[in-house]
Amino acid sequence: MVHDRKSALALVEALSRELYINGRWRESSTGARYSVHNPADGSAITEVADASVADAQDALAAAHAAQRDWGATTSRYRAELLRRVFDRIIERTEDFAALISLEMGKPLAEARGEVAYGAEFLRWFSEQAAHLTGSYAPAPNGGYRIVTAKQPVGPSLLITPWNFPLAMATRKIGAALAAGCTCLVKPAPQTPLTLALLMQICHELDVPAGVVNYLPTLDAAAQSRALMDDARLRKVSFTGSTGVGSILLRQAADRVLRTSMELGGNGPFIVFDDAELDAAVDGAMLAKMRNAGESCVAANRFLVHEAIAEEFTERLVRRFEELVVGDAFDPASAVGPLIDAKQLDKVTELVDDAVARGARIRVGGKALGGNGYFYRPTVLTEVPGTARIAHEEIFGPVAAVTTFSTEEQALERANATEFGLAGYVYTRDLSRALRFAERLETGMVGVNRGLVSDPGGPFGGVKASGLGREGGASGIEEYLETKYLAVQL
Ligand code: ADP
Repeated sequence: MVHDRKSALALVEALSRELYINGRWRESSTGARYSVHNPADGSAITEVADASVADAQDALAAAHAAQRDWGATTSRYRAELLRRVFDRIIERTEDFAALISLEMGKPLAEARGEVAYGAEFLRWFSEQAAHLTGSYAPAPNGGYRIVTAKQPVGPSLLITPWNFPLAMATRKIGAALAAGCTCLVKPAPQTPLTLALLMQICHELDVPAGVVNYLPTLDAAAQSRALMDDARLRKVSFTGSTGVGSILLRQAADRVLRTSMELGGNGPFIVFDDAELDAAVDGAMLAKMRNAGESCVAANRFLVHEAIAEEFTERLVRRFEELVVGDAFDPASAVGPLIDAKQLDKVTELVDDAVARGARIRVGGKALGGNGYFYRPTVLTEVPGTARIAHEEIFGPVAAVTTFSTEEQALERANATEFGLAGYVYTRDLSRALRFAERLETGMVGVNRGLVSDPGGPFGGVKASGLGREGGASGIEEYLETKYLAVQL
């Protein structure tokens, strides 16, 4: 059924809001709980158990104990199990969408899109699980054989952000389980409810005890420190800010843990003067406004050729003006609130700073007011290079448009950032598109396309945007070791 806010709250009441450890729901060892809020009005939705370090250690003990049997299951069995989880998520699309909307704030229609995208990772990895391969070859100098096989890395800590509460978790859980790794999932404190439902489904479908554990906590630092200090943990996969990613990489160094890091972005969106303008504006809307701009692959800096900059900007402004900002459960809403007061303050500061330095507001430019964390869709032009918004990740519904005159200039500006996650280029000239995409220092490039995320594509960044890839053919490799056998005949 399609939920309204009232039925979504009833759904939360029916959900277990405890920790999920070793196949059982249980309270935190300290009895601690914390409140989860609805960003549309700041109201408390419910309370969830707050995992202590001792709980996390119990979960690691369970994951470690389960690892041997789980790693020895047949890949066909793991594939079928993941496929059943995929099917069940799809069956419960409306419930997942309601939980995402309630705790994260994105409009229901967008939340349904996340459910489809998030579930798809499980289907993708179920297909990959069944197709793990090894190799057999003669040694170059003869005499023996070189045999390789893939083996699971082992118990993995999966730390996820709040912007895609389901999808950022399924792309880690799916890969880990497909590879034969057990895992500990640490959701963002703002959005634990979506994953509580996923844990319930894993339980219903008989995912063996200890294979998936769920540990919401307000003290992520203490939890990750304790787990990463423990020799039973073999891997950490993180999606979040570059600052926290660096801390985790330093912690991982002590015990030489495998790591995967999906960190911040500062996506350039380049529009050449020969671009198909309608397509470029459609792409800009997607790349900027998906998730209200709260996405690491969001277009952060629009670089538009001076010959078409005004035309592009006018069309973009018209589209921004049409966007209805509002509560996730109102079918008219196209843009939800930001996640919390801190994020709203940050976006407000970035826009105010740009305006103080000479930027011009073409639409929006301020918060909506009221109890929710809504910010008006905003287009800024004449943004000076000294403005903070020209360098920092915005994570909000604000488009900063600047102009360029030559391809070299566009490239130089696009690459003038420590980040390198996604970039976008619009041009009808195929040679230019490919030449530019090859020289863009990002892990992903949308070529005449404003959306790159796809379970079938390798998602990840270069430079300070991270290490490793999620999804695509290589996603499962992040959870596999290559074992080499030298076999004397
Ligand atoms: P944001 O500021 O957008 O919330 P963060 O990078 O702080 O981004 O958060 C992403 C995830 O990292 C969340 O699940 C958060 O709880 C977790 N986190 C934050 N600090 C740490 C830390 N020191 N160790 C492990 N996880 C952390």
